[in-house]
Amino acid sequence: MRQDRLPTDCTWGSAGMQCPLRPVWQGVVVASLGLLLVLSTAAQHATSGHGPDSGRQPGAASPAHASLALERVAAIHGQHGPFAVAGYRMGEAALRALGLSRGSFELEVVHHSPAQVQWSCIADGLQAATGASAGKLNLRLVETSGEVYSLVRNQTGQSRFELNDVRSTIENLPHDRLADAGVVVMQIPAEQVYRQIGSPSQPGKEAGQHHAH
Ligand SMILES: [Zn+2]
Repeated sequence: MRQDRLPTDCTWGSAGMQCPLRPVWQGVVVASLGLLLVLSTAAQHATSGHGPDSGRQPGAASPAHASLALERVAAIHGQHGPFAVAGYRMGEAALRALGLSRGSFELEVVHHSPAQVQWSCIADGLQAATGASAGKLNLRLVETSGEVYSLVRNQTGQSRFELNDVRSTIENLPHDRLADAGVVVMQIPAEQVYRQIGSPSQPGKEAGQHHAH
């Protein structure tokens, strides 16, 4: 699918899109992984309190919760890559904001992004977290020329999610580092992963468009 859009040195195989590392990227990747390790260490410090969850930073997942979440992402997406994991965390935050449980049919998810993996991967994470799906007609993809954001709503409110600081760290990682990066994205504080705008009590800019009935 969409092989016409791949850069010429990328191939589409059984493991998904594979692109050889260009020399110019290697330094960036090494630097990015270094930052991921720093973030990971911070996350581990955050979870090593006195009790099971004490000292954990607000918004960081507990170890048990994180491993279930990673399994759910992999079940939908094939592996728990960092963009799908970011989408999962957005989806969970949306359920909390809207007061809905996983699998609710009240939920509608619309993911906006270019039709390129990484950006589109976020949608699978949203599906894994919320249970919304293409087949249930409550998960849609809208292709953009560059913008990446997700809208999650029900009849009473809407939240808009965008990747936050983590974006530059996880972009264009080599294929064999994706799963590790996903583990880190699951552990770091939420505000590093995404920006959330709007909630049922504080409608976002676009929430005014929801139906009055
Ligand atoms: Zn992915």
